[in-house]
Amino acid sequence: VLLTLDYDGTLTPIVSRPDLAVLPAGVRALLVELTGNSKYLVGVISGRSLEDVREKVDVEGIVYAGNHGLEMEGPGVRFLHPEAKSLKGLLEQVCRDLGDNLAHYPGVVVENKGLTLSVHYRMTPNSLANEVEEVFKATVLSFRDSAQVKITGGKKVLEVRPNVEWHKGKAIGKLMELHPEVSLAAFFGDDLTDEDAFAAVQDANGIAVFVGPTRQPTKALHRVDSPEEVSEALRLMAQL
Ligand SMILES: [Mg+2]
Repeated sequence: VLLTLDYDGTLTPIVSRPDLAVLPAGVRALLVELTGNSKYLVGVISGRSLEDVREKVDVEGIVYAGNHGLEMEGPGVRFLHPEAKSLKGLLEQVCRDLGDNLAHYPGVVVENKGLTLSVHYRMTPNSLANEVEEVFKATVLSFRDSAQVKITGGKKVLEVRPNVEWHKGKAIGKLMELHPEVSLAAFFGDDLTDEDAFAAVQDANGIAVFVGPTRQPTKALHRVDSPEEVSEALRLMAQL
């Protein structure tokens, strides 16, 4: 089983600042247990950079996929999306301008993740959220090369990614290709960027699990309520 999971909001609760999302020790212990079980190949696929997600999870033998799968490393896997790599310079410039143009909005955090960038505004007053979104879009679109990047978003986060046909679903497809012994893929995720992965695992007859309340529409056919229930599911899977 290729058991893949998102990080923020899936393995950890959503918190006000991304650096505060710490993996609970109990969940880490379960990941260690699952990694040691020969039935599973475990992967964590995050919008964070590869280095960041590896540092946060800190378990040996896991496949880490950063920047929504643009970069992946782990057992039998070493992947860096070639086109994404060539757009690093452009992203750096966009990042600098976003930092300047959003500097006077309280609570905005601009984060350069190498292959993508994020603007976090969970701590910004709600009354300013629309303005932040507009300044963000105008800044990105002001670049002559803006067609080479695309704008995406999630829970109080806006992102700039290379405009390449790649996402968490493609990343899971690549992992299955690299690991032909995998007969079943499963993915747990809580946010909009996880929908591509839900579709991909279900297209491959796998199991997609949305993490969160029912009110959000999702392609995933299965659902658990919270990261606590994800950990409960991991505990049950470790016993198989
Ligand atoms: Mg998430």
